[in-house]
Amino acid sequence: MLALELSRPGANGVHPEVATKIRTELYEERETPGAGIAAFAKAFIPSGTRIFCEEALIVVRDEARQPEVYKAVSSLPKDKQAAYWELAASSKPTKDVDWINQLRSSYDGEPDSFNAIVESHEQAWSIYETNRFSLRYPNGDYKLGIFPKSARLNHACAPNVFHRYNPRINRLTIHALKDIQPGEELNTSYIDICHPTVVRRQMLKGWGFRCQCVVCESPDDEQDYRRKQLEDIMKKVKKRESQRQLSGSNWPHKEYERSMKLIQKGVRLMNKEQMEESDTLGFLLTLATRYGLLMGQAEAAALWAASVVAIEEKCLGEDSNEHHAALVLRKTADAGGLASRTLLSSSILA
Ligand SMILES: [Zn+2]
Repeated sequence: MLALELSRPGANGVHPEVATKIRTELYEERETPGAGIAAFAKAFIPSGTRIFCEEALIVVRDEARQPEVYKAVSSLPKDKQAAYWELAASSKPTKDVDWINQLRSSYDGEPDSFNAIVESHEQAWSIYETNRFSLRYPNGDYKLGIFPKSARLNHACAPNVFHRYNPRINRLTIHALKDIQPGEELNTSYIDICHPTVVRRQMLKGWGFRCQCVVCESPDDEQDYRRKQLEDIMKKVKKRESQRQLSGSNWPHKEYERSMKLIQKGVRLMNKEQMEESDTLGFLLTLATRYGLLMGQAEAAALWAASVVAIEEKCLGEDSNEHHAALVLRKTADAGGLASRTLLSSSILA
């Protein structure tokens, strides 16, 4: 197993050897007709392999606007700046021009060079909007960053890799969601995949393309209907979980049963879609485990917890907070829910 080649965490929980590793022996960048530079497997990649583990080029606040992004880029060493400017820019110019007026008020050079400065700001912004990834931190902080190698991955609504920022190692990781054959394009999903095609295409407009992946182009109406059902189920399950948290120990048994039915339906749909990933299946099975323990179904809960551990390990790796939380959950389930009181109050909703 390739995963065994990765080093174990050190005393501080950090994987120093793998921290900056991008497995260039497993994939290559290639120019494609119509979709710019994309990433393709050049060797067999087993499911769960960490293909990318990349450091950010720039990280900015969610509220950052053009001048802040431009400043972050222009503060980089020259070779890193070059890597930034090479990235695709497909977002439309923004209507917000306040920043131009602010920039002008502090500018005392030639008018022509001011226009060039504005253009550079706009180009930096367009690249940023097209390629940025989310960085979520355990304390609730949220930032956005550019990871130039990972940015080459195109989108698909049935992705074969999964990306996530890992705050424990301060890297973006990309793992294979399934076995990938040499020559296959590596595709991640830019959006939540549990929506019907019309909604997904609308969400993807911001990246300046109309998705033509196999799911979007599929003539199978049933598949689209499954995505619609998943959208409904995820919405309902999350809403019901919020209600449960508000009611605490007063949530009636029959409400748990109702939620469990929805979760089971969601799991079946995900299996049918052959989508085994952290945000949906991992989320649903985590809830199933917690509810199962609270409902006295310890045996089933232990099985679900084991699935969560496997999903988080595959999608995010052993050094992720999600995998760590899954291990704690499995331990609780294996102990027959002895610590289930804490499950009542703790939240897995983002
Ligand atoms: Zn699509």
